[in-house]
Amino acid sequence: MIPFNRPTYTGNEDKYVLEAMRSSKISGDGEFAKRCQRWFEENLPCKKAFLTPSCTHALEMAAMLIDIKEEDEVIMPSFTFTSTANAFALRGAKIVFVDIRPDTMNIDETKIEQAITEKTKAIVVVHYAGVACEMDTIMDIANKYNLFVIEDAAQGMMSKYKGKSLGTIGHLGTYSFHETKNYTSGGEGGLLIINDERFIERAEIIREKGTNRSKFFRGMVDKYTWVDIGSSYLMNELSAAYLWGNLEKSVEINQYRLRIWETYYKGLKELEDKGYIQLPTIPKDCQHNAHIFYIKVKDLQERTALIDFLKQNGIMAAFHYIPLHSSPAGKKFGRFVGEDIYTTKESERLVRLPIFYGIKDEEVEKVIKYVKKFFQEGKNNELI
Ligand SMILES: *Cc1c(COP(=O)(O)O)cnc(C)c1O
Repeated sequence: MIPFNRPTYTGNEDKYVLEAMRSSKISGDGEFAKRCQRWFEENLPCKKAFLTPSCTHALEMAAMLIDIKEEDEVIMPSFTFTSTANAFALRGAKIVFVDIRPDTMNIDETKIEQAITEKTKAIVVVHYAGVACEMDTIMDIANKYNLFVIEDAAQGMMSKYKGKSLGTIGHLGTYSFHETKNYTSGGEGGLLIINDERFIERAEIIREKGTNRSKFFRGMVDKYTWVDIGSSYLMNELSAAYLWGNLEKSVEINQYRLRIWETYYKGLKELEDKGYIQLPTIPKDCQHNAHIFYIKVKDLQERTALIDFLKQNGIMAAFHYIPLHSSPAGKKFGRFVGEDIYTTKESERLVRLPIFYGIKDEEVEKVIKYVKKFFQEGKNNELI
């Protein structure tokens, strides 16, 4: 069986985890955590980077930092993971969904303005598959209406928009190091990226259970105490040690994935030319990270048939996101503004193929072969 994903492991992770275990500090902000945070601050670069237990937690911190209150409205795409919305719903916000663009599956920047009301507090963008949203337009809208922009860049590490790392363009950004993402901290993990300095001090407090403990450690106060709301948002040191193993090889991992992505693209181009499928689009301002290789087929029925066919032939493929506005919680906490032209339709056509660091060339060739077989030999030869 060719799995859909395998967690990124490059060879040094176990050594670093063992080293962390044997050190006397294994809670948050230990040596590996500091090394990772510095790596992000220097390499993205960004003003401040905080490791968190997950991207979900980083999004929750973002919602607290921009002071989301009951009845505030937050605009986002419906085609996303639940955490994008949940973090804001948890603080009482109403979620306002707008349609996506069919080419990138990202929020349609031209639909945002019509969804803004006096209650709008923020725009949360999701860089699907590590391909950037149209950030210049989105930042202009945010500036015009005085809104915060949070980038859910869970899938976007190593990707760029006009030369800038994803997550460093909005006021705040978040990454995920879940085992399904390009880089992992050994299963679960995340990062909060702070680009607006005003948030740094409060972020330290929020992630330290609402205390000024960080200031205490720096010798700036003589005892630490409860000063604000907060929670426990530090990544444990063993996870940070695993992540360091991935970060050290970040370029190599990225190049490996991009090569696989290109192999799929070239291998399946013929099916696109014949009109059976659609391949992903990478806009010219975007440098992507090959987080996902997806194709779009005719409709839901054909997608189900393709996923089944691949599974029968030892290949795991996956679809993505039931749009949030059609989910029970999405209906309760949100509303869709404008017409759902693409969100539902495009999400039902999307199939993700196996892509991970270490996938073998012959495995990729096998996937290409069976996708072609499905369209060329099967009954499924209707054009899209
Ligand atoms: C994976 C993902 C998340 C959640 O990340 P966790 O680290 O598992 O909390 C949030 N948003 C998007 C777009 C994701 O892909």
